[in-house]
Amino acid sequence: MAAAEDPADLARRIAGALRAAVEAEEAFGTVDLLLPERSRARASWATAAEPDIPAEATPEDARDIPTLEAMVSGCRRCHLAESRTQTVPGDGAHDADLLVVGEAPGAEEDRRGVPFVGRAGQLLTKMLAAIELDRSEVYICNVLKCRPPGNRNPEASEIASCLPFLKRQIDLVNPKVILALGAPATRTLLETRDGITKLRGRIFPRHGARCVPSFHPAYLLRNPAAKREAWADLQLVRRLLDE
Ligand code: SF4
Repeated sequence: MAAAEDPADLARRIAGALRAAVEAEEAFGTVDLLLPERSRARASWATAAEPDIPAEATPEDARDIPTLEAMVSGCRRCHLAESRTQTVPGDGAHDADLLVVGEAPGAEEDRRGVPFVGRAGQLLTKMLAAIELDRSEVYICNVLKCRPPGNRNPEASEIASCLPFLKRQIDLVNPKVILALGAPATRTLLETRDGITKLRGRIFPRHGARCVPSFHPAYLLRNPAAKREAWADLQLVRRLLDE
């Protein structure tokens, strides 16, 4: 029979294994520990604070972004609540000069509860870096806070149900510039049916900010030739932020 392990050796071995696991998490980004700090804080805050939010409260009642994000976490205003893994309210600086709006969470965002973390999100991070912005400096969200099944396009009724959350996010963050990515975000913000090709690269006053429509990073991944126009749009955003 093998001799019993010395308790001190066992404790050292467990501590070493835990240290190695944490280092691997940080290096490779594999599980929930990899959520951005802000998102983990939001998740625990929301759990603790939800009982304090009156059932009849509306998005307009939210006095700050954490309260609004907690409201989103419990939202069942549309049928996407049935199929989501979790809500994806938003992420980033609550007083950002730039607010980025996409369409809806994808599979990876639905799994992690953070917007723009899949391949399109990685491209967005690079696009922001190209105009000297770190992700943590901007606020990033989507028109819809829950994933449509199979990544289908958002339905008009879903957008109508979710829009009060986006409007309140814009009010609370109060950005100088809104970067609208893709047709659904642009059409929602500008209340138009015009196509993104016609609207991109122009400046529209919206919600007290200047809105610049551009291509969604997912589209750029499929159509790399459009990156030239997207780069011009980003340079416009940079100029507006610098004014
Ligand atoms: S998509 Fe928006 S309105 Fe629909 S359940 Fe999710 S948070 Fe609520």
